Amino acid sequence: MKNFLSLFILLLILLTGCGKKVEKDSLEKIIEKDEIVVGIKSDSKPFCYKNVKTGKLEGFDIDVAKYVAKDILGNERKIKFVEVTPNKRIEAITSGEVDMVIATMTVTPQRQYLVDFSAPYYIAGQTAVVKEDSDIYTFSDLKRKTTIVVLGTTAEQNIRKIIPTAKIVGYKDYKSAFNALLQGKGDAMSTDDTIISGFINDHNDYRILKNRISQEPYAIGIKQYDDQKLKKTLDVIVTRMKKDGTVKELKQKWHLK
Ligand code: GLU
Repeated sequence: MKNFLSLFILLLILLTGCGKKVEKDSLEKIIEKDEIVVGIKSDSKPFCYKNVKTGKLEGFDIDVAKYVAKDILGNERKIKFVEVTPNKRIEAITSGEVDMVIATMTVTPQRQYLVDFSAPYYIAGQTAVVKEDSDIYTFSDLKRKTTIVVLGTTAEQNIRKIIPTAKIVGYKDYKSAFNALLQGKGDAMSTDDTIISGFINDHNDYRILKNRISQEPYAIGIKQYDDQKLKKTLDVIVTRMKKDGTVKELKQKWHLK
């Protein structure tokens, strides 16, 4: 009986540990090097984008990164930003190229299998953008139409699942996906309402669909560590950001709901 029980526990450990790459220390590494390497995007207005006039990175996610650096290292400038595309976010975390990704990254069960997430700091929703004079009003109008997506996003996955007959063209980042939309290479482009509203602000001959087909909770993605210290610290930081009014202020600053 005892033998059977230990075999069962061993099996359980093997099964639950399978696929997860766990590392020992987390927070200490960051404190030791006195810098946080943060994976971001540079084309997802108003969350993370490059201001064309100043050449500087700006947005809600950039402000979240600064808040985290201020909290952990006492200085919001102790960050090194590394550009990642949606498809490369997980790899950037698991390979150790970045300490964390703060880039409109939705928490999903599949991603949680590979990386850990902080508590969510913002909830977006998936929708689509079309030309003002388009005959597309709902997601079901996308059947037999061409929809542009960014590869590796939840939007790509959801469209494939919800509208299997939709023709999909994928691009590696938002810059090329929106360029494709502007060049008429698709009838619609689908992603989070946050990123679409940023695009529409600069292109008012386009409109956003009313439906939201998903909830997209944004959180900070990190490597899976044994001690969970970094995750716990980030959870505390995100909870404080919500309680002390920072999240509310950032929503106002970046014109979000
Ligand atoms: N939030 C969605 C995702 O994580 C889409 C937006 C993005 O690409 O960052 O896949």
